[in-house]
Amino acid sequence: MPTPRRDGRRPRVTVLRLGHRPGRDPRLTTHVALAARAFGADRMLLTPPDPALADRLSAVAQRWGGGFRVEGVERWSDAVRRFAGGVVHLTMYGEPLDRALPRLRRRPELLVVVGGAKVPAELYRRADYNVAVGAQPHSEVAALAVLLDRLGGLPDGCRFRGAERRIVPQRNGKRVLRTGRGRAP
Ligand code: SAM
Repeated sequence: MPTPRRDGRRPRVTVLRLGHRPGRDPRLTTHVALAARAFGADRMLLTPPDPALADRLSAVAQRWGGGFRVEGVERWSDAVRRFAGGVVHLTMYGEPLDRALPRLRRRPELLVVVGGAKVPAELYRRADYNVAVGAQPHSEVAALAVLLDRLGGLPDGCRFRGAERRIVPQRNGKRVLRTGRGRAP
């Protein structure tokens, strides 16, 4: 059974990132994970697994809070089959986000799949929803960020539990608070 929504409004989101190439320019996958975490996803599944990237994201969560984690999976199809919730595949060929959104918001639990250069054709059939964020090619980071925001996003100044550091928003300059939690120097 899917776990209930925390706020009764925003589905819990797991991201599945396909097309990652461990050791070869991890920046884009890192940005997918950072955007997923910052805009409220709980975790990211990564195929193929990349323990070094998972460790880097765990260091980010340690410093800036929250429980976001990256987990490796060997086969995307197993992750999709095992997922107890709605499977959303983000693709420029899908139905417009505005049209799908009310149905997505009703699901307590979503697996959001983003690809790389090419995704397996089977994914279009296995997904419950093929969703486009505009019918133009752009980026998995942009598509994911827009979807998460439209699903309810995070309130401005949202605090992540257990953060070692917290940004105090400024109109000019930078201010970072040490919370005394964790092991920040
Ligand atoms: N031909 C691809 C497609 O099906 O969207 C574009 C590949 S793009 C470099 C990599 C990933 O970005 C895609 O697998 C998809 O998850 C996401 N993406 C790109 N443009 C999108 C759009 N307009 N709507 C939703 N997702 C998009």
